[in-house]
Amino acid sequence: MNEMLRHLPSVDQLLRDAGALIEQHGRLRTKEAVRAALDAARAGKSGATSDALLQQAASLLDREAQPSLRPVFNLTGTVLHTNLGRALLAAEAIEAANIAMRQAVTLEFNVDGGHRGERDDHLRGLLLELTGAEDATVVNNNAAAVLLVLNSLGLGKQAIVSRGELIEIGGSFRMPDIMSRAGVELVEVGTTNRTHAKDYAAAITDRTGLILKVHTSNYRIEGFTAEMAAPDLARLAQERGVPLVNDLGSGSLVDLSVYGLAKEPTVREAVAEGADIITFSGDKLLGGPQAGFIIGKRELIAQINRNPMKRALRVDKIRLAALEATLRLYRDPDRLAARLPTLRALARPAAEIEAQAQRLRPLVQSFFGDVLTVTVVPCQSQVGSGALPTSTISSAALSLRPASSDGRLVERLAMGFRNLHTPIVGRIEDGALLFDLRCLEDDTSLLAALTPHLHEIF
Ligand SMILES: *Cc1c(COP(=O)(O)O)cnc(C)c1O
Repeated sequence: MNEMLRHLPSVDQLLRDAGALIEQHGRLRTKEAVRAALDAARAGKSGATSDALLQQAASLLDREAQPSLRPVFNLTGTVLHTNLGRALLAAEAIEAANIAMRQAVTLEFNVDGGHRGERDDHLRGLLLELTGAEDATVVNNNAAAVLLVLNSLGLGKQAIVSRGELIEIGGSFRMPDIMSRAGVELVEVGTTNRTHAKDYAAAITDRTGLILKVHTSNYRIEGFTAEMAAPDLARLAQERGVPLVNDLGSGSLVDLSVYGLAKEPTVREAVAEGADIITFSGDKLLGGPQAGFIIGKRELIAQINRNPMKRALRVDKIRLAALEATLRLYRDPDRLAARLPTLRALARPAAEIEAQAQRLRPLVQSFFGDVLTVTVVPCQSQVGSGALPTSTISSAALSLRPASSDGRLVERLAMGFRNLHTPIVGRIEDGALLFDLRCLEDDTSLLAALTPHLHEIF
């Protein structure tokens, strides 16, 4: 061994044979990897021949070249999975974003007059047409939309919110915290389960900046409950001269019951109910890129646009392009479900998913022999991202159950699938790993991601 180490090739010798690696990864990184391979050989952790050293360098370079943000298979059954990037964009939106990245665009340029234009102009017309609102603007995400609206209408004043609607969306988005950061004093009214008209009415004073209604998007309060209907709240707000803001969260532009899903309030309905300002997300049910829409009364939108914070929260040309293309798809409702991946996934019939699972079952089983059993089971998918929290959608899954009842095996199985070059993410239920196939559009991509080494997990 010592003899071999004394005859280790030099960095320069190895680099002379590393043409392909240099071509792929560049001279600098290849040199670093060759040095690391030599160090590993000296430490007895890898082979000392030229071939072994170059192979070690190649595998280091491969690992390093793997992007941190990379594709996964979302087989969790949650269609809009926040941690997996929520909505997948339509081909039309991807193409529009591509063009905006490659070429100069009319971002803030009025072609007719040759003078400066407005970013918001690209979406305003579409948003007004699709929602019935008077005016609209767009910011980084819905959290930013809520922050900006609160700060614009309520700075140094009070915002009235029902105790049943003081939501936490996850992460650190809690309504009371956002309020205080927006410089708005929170006035809670009613109780967790019941808030009445008289509660709101008694809280309105000359210090009130706005009334905030929040769609309880990730939970439902059921049982002995009362909330003030939006149109009544809008009437009260108008009588007392206070703006009513409705944070819809997901906010769908279409009636989802048409696609066999539970009904979520549409943005158009919220506008018709009389809210002065409405906020909703771009990458939840709408199916576009991350964004937050603010729509409503013209003079209030103007006030919001004058807030210097707006500049800090604005969206870039790439997302504007994708948003415009996504919104355009809504002008052709007949083809919407075919073109918008989010809606397409949500609307897939359980029978079609089950047939797909039956097709894939023996193929996946063949990777494992008798160390585990793959079966097809019915399951329930979720919309995710806080939309329709209590209604699930019938679906079908591949269930992978280890032959041994050792509970750690299923965890190890899940980890093995997560460690694939393209990770496959499912969910563990009842001692089995479930792959809900609702979001799997093509079988071959999944099969190609499975490696013959999979059984080594056990
Ligand atoms: C999701 C949600 C938000 C935050 O929206 P993002 O687009 O994730 O920033 C705010 N309010 C409600 C009610 C939500 O459901």
